Amino acid sequence: MLKRGGTIGVLGGGQLGRMMAQSAAQLGYRCIAYAPEGDTVAAQVCDDVFANGWDDTAALAAFAAQCDVVTWEFENVPVATAQAMPGDRIFPHPRALETAQDRLAEKRFVEGLGGTPAAYARIDSMHDLEMAVDRLGAPGILKTRRDGYDGKGQWRIGSARDAAALNLPEVPLIYEGFVEFEAEFSVILVRGQDGEIRFWDSTRNAHEAGILATSTLPAGETIEAQVDEARDLARQVADALKYVGVLTLEFFATREGPVFNEMAPRVHNSGHWSIEGAVTSQFENHIRAVAGLPLGDTGCVARSVTMTNIIGGAIKGAQAHLQASDTHLHDYGKAEVREGRKMGHVTQLVR
Ligand code: AMP
Repeated sequence: MLKRGGTIGVLGGGQLGRMMAQSAAQLGYRCIAYAPEGDTVAAQVCDDVFANGWDDTAALAAFAAQCDVVTWEFENVPVATAQAMPGDRIFPHPRALETAQDRLAEKRFVEGLGGTPAAYARIDSMHDLEMAVDRLGAPGILKTRRDGYDGKGQWRIGSARDAAALNLPEVPLIYEGFVEFEAEFSVILVRGQDGEIRFWDSTRNAHEAGILATSTLPAGETIEAQVDEARDLARQVADALKYVGVLTLEFFATREGPVFNEMAPRVHNSGHWSIEGAVTSQFENHIRAVAGLPLGDTGCVARSVTMTNIIGGAIKGAQAHLQASDTHLHDYGKAEVREGRKMGHVTQLVR
């Protein structure tokens, strides 16, 4: 168990790290962020920040020396960076990053555990894409295998002609058949150092332009009927990776059951509702897990919960949300407003 006053290192400097650090402070821990971009929203609430490159071995060693345990808030932290941390003091283990950073490896891994992803094909050339569209049909979505987020690095392919007209980017790609889903949901769990697993309720997630717009509870019958099967898969993923911390799997609810979309080896936007909506939030339980503390109750405390992301310029009027009862604003403190940028979120509860 990490003693009070201990130091937790967080690789990455975004809002997820910021909210982790807020929970760590509540539990009496210090946080140090490691974020190459320096002046980040996590750094605003951390005790210290290392603004060094991901491949700066001297800085990584100095960072590790100051931390009792290390975790990450950003899934595109290079695997070599995570591996530069002492293996018995980084949670989750870097193998989780390795699996989740490549959409192809991730799908194969999940299939190996009995999960069902959307039909997919590996794409390394125009010929591969033509064959894939022929075999899997259109519409479909071409995605970069690495570094995609919030709908970035994705191209909707409506027809074989669309595919032929595309200027293929020179990075590893994957083509996915379009899933006719009824709804989208995520399974978020926390796994402790002793292997205990707890799940939060699964929200209904609605996306706009590839970005999460809202997460709501109750999620409705279609999703509720598929959550057990999805949880079984998530549990197997967590056990196979000997995972410690919060893990997220995203699913499409279809007529044929849950179809795996992707996993995030970290706390997740669709779990932000848990800060006020659950007995213990995803951030607190992540810190508890990496610190070796007992896990907290994940139960929902309200009859309904709606988490709405505040994107881009909408942050300017966001304080008006506070006029509504049981409504909680989280402003991530980002100075620069950009279109499509996650600036904050607001959670409304009905108890
Ligand atoms: P991703 O970054 O892969 O999670 O994609 C972002 C969003 O795009 C998803 O949450 C879905 O709304 C949509 N999407 C991605 N892949 C597919 C697919 N194969 N079929 C249908 N919709 C998809």
